[in-house]
Order: sequence, then structure tokens, then C-alpha cells
Amino acid sequence: MTTERIQSHTVSMQDGPAAPAKTRRLGGRDMTTAGRGRIVSVVTNGYAAPVLRWYAGHARDLPWRRPGASAWSVLVSEIMLQQTPVVRVLPAHTAWLQRWPAPPALAAAAPGDAVRQWGRLGYPRRALWLHATARILTDEHGGQVPASVHDLRALPGVGGYTAAAVASFAFGQRHAVLDTNVRRVLARLVRGEQQPPRTASAAEARLAEALLPAAPGRAARWSVAIMELGALVCTATSPDCANCPVARQCSWRRAGSPAGPARRAKPRYAGSDRECRGRLLAVLREAAGPVPAERLGPVWPHPEQRDRALRALVADGLAAALADGTYALPGTAEAGTAPAPPASAEAAASPECGP
Ligand code: SF4
Repeated sequence: MTTERIQSHTVSMQDGPAAPAKTRRLGGRDMTTAGRGRIVSVVTNGYAAPVLRWYAGHARDLPWRRPGASAWSVLVSEIMLQQTPVVRVLPAHTAWLQRWPAPPALAAAAPGDAVRQWGRLGYPRRALWLHATARILTDEHGGQVPASVHDLRALPGVGGYTAAAVASFAFGQRHAVLDTNVRRVLARLVRGEQQPPRTASAAEARLAEALLPAAPGRAARWSVAIMELGALVCTATSPDCANCPVARQCSWRRAGSPAGPARRAKPRYAGSDRECRGRLLAVLREAAGPVPAERLGPVWPHPEQRDRALRALVADGLAAALADGTYALPGTAEAGTAPAPPASAEAAASPECGP
């Protein structure tokens, strides 16, 4: 199955409210109504059956996938998984859902409580997004996660991928769910390339849509199954082709698994502003109350970088600068005017920040 063939038979779908889909075969293709009743042509996906069979026997037992998992559980998992591996998300997700089993419970808490609960998952702005989301859901959606991609995309931190994932996994809708794992599998399986392009392209989105089975429930299952295949088998550095359910159909494997262009190394975490912000935030998280600026000094050996990181935390709403010169998690103490952390003489003398 070539990319060209798939694309030639595809009409793009737009996000829209869920609608019951009706499917019939016509001219060798599945024809389905989707979205607002438009007719969408879908090629037969020859990968679906083996991938779905494999998924039935190999899927991980994850709490947000269990029968009866709430849409809130799915949404929380998707936000946490945006930047953090499953193994680290699992305990954090369980603790989050135990503390805030539904959006109104989180909406009643302070944003700083969400940041504290987030712990060391990284990229803590996601905690604020979830808190803001909980308040929106409580105020505007009766405390429920909406089912429509349009409404989901209006929530903080929810982009096209997350909205499609929640609509698919929580509500069984038919949307292309194109995360890093899926992009990699499709690049290899269909396009014969070791890695997808650095940034997601419209062609990839069309391909993913073309491969969606026509029936919404099967499409949602295909989406999670192909994602799981990327996470467990078709991994970035060591694909386990011998145990892959679509190895015989894989374009990249049939081409001899040619190496793609070398990828640029990821930016170093050690010594970065990100690490510095993480250390500062850890002090605020672990403190029972506001923290004097002097206690933040020893956290990082480079004062200019530390001050910059502190200003960024305040600007991002992850920390509050109080009128008395102390710092706290947002909403956990009365905030006053935010003073800019002072630039130190040592920092001014050295333009280099970080090790
Ligand atoms: S055969 Fe190998 S490269 Fe191809 S999809 Fe399967 S695991 Fe990935």
C-alpha cells in the first residue's frame, strides 16, 4: 500500500462534534458518514486486522484504558503523557485521580496545590493547565469533560493531538491521533522511512486519516493500538521487527531498514534553565509556607541564571512573588506586587550562565 494510493482515496475530515457513523462498502472502499454527516472515503487498511489482534494480546493494562475509566482520567493521562514517559506518569496519575477524582474537586483547590501535586513530572505548567481546565469544566461544562474536539481544543494545553486522543479514547470517536509513536510507525510501515519529518506535516495527517477504519469504535481502537505498537515494538532506537505483527508489510523493513539522516542531539538538561527552574520549584513545593529569597540562593551556583529562572517561574504563574520578598506556590499565600529578583554582582560580571 503506497502513500500515493492512500492519499488518492482520501477526503480530509475536519474536527466536529461526534455523530453516529454509518458505514457501507462501495467500489472496494468503506464509505462512512462522519462529523456533520459528510461522506468520507476510506481505503481498506490492511494493517488494521493484524495490529488490532496484536493489541488484544499485548496492550499494557493502564488505568486510563480500563473499562469505566472516566474522561477526566483520560484527559489527565494525556496531559501528563505529553512530555513524560508512562512509567513515571503511572503513580502520578493514580495519586492525582485519588485526590481529584473529578474536575470540580481540582477546581476548588489552589493552583499551587496542583503544582505541588505535580511533583517531579517535569514541565509543571501542565499542572496549571489542568487546574485551569478543571475550573473551565466546572464553570462551563457541568464539571464534565466535553466530547467534542472543538470544545476540547479550547482547553488550556490541549492541542490537536490531545483533543483527538481524548475524543477517541474517552468517547470512542473517529479521529486521527498522531503522536510521536504513531508518526514513527507510519513513517516506517507505509513511507519506508526510518523517522518521520522533524515537524508533523499535512501529508502525515492525511495518511493517518486515510488509515482510520470506518467504524468509530474500531477507529478509536486502531488509534490506540498503533500508538501502543510504537511504544512497545517499533521503538525509536531498537524496533523489534521479529515480533512485529506487520513486519511482512513494512516498507522500511522490506527496503533493508536504511538509516535515515542523523538527528540533532536533544538540548542538554544538566545546567539548563529548565534544571534551575526545577530546583527552585522543588524548594517551593517542599516548603510549608512562603520561602525567603535567601533560601533560594544556595539552590543554584550561578546567580544570574537563578534570577532569570525565578523571574520565569513568576511570569509563568508557577510561583508567586509576595510583597514581603518571599516566594510561594501560586494561590497558597496572599501574593503582593512581584519584585524582580535582584541581579547579583557576580552574575553581572559574568555573561555565562550555567555550567
Ligand atoms: S517491521 Fe519493524 S520497522 Fe516495520 S513497523 Fe514493525 S517494528 Fe516497525
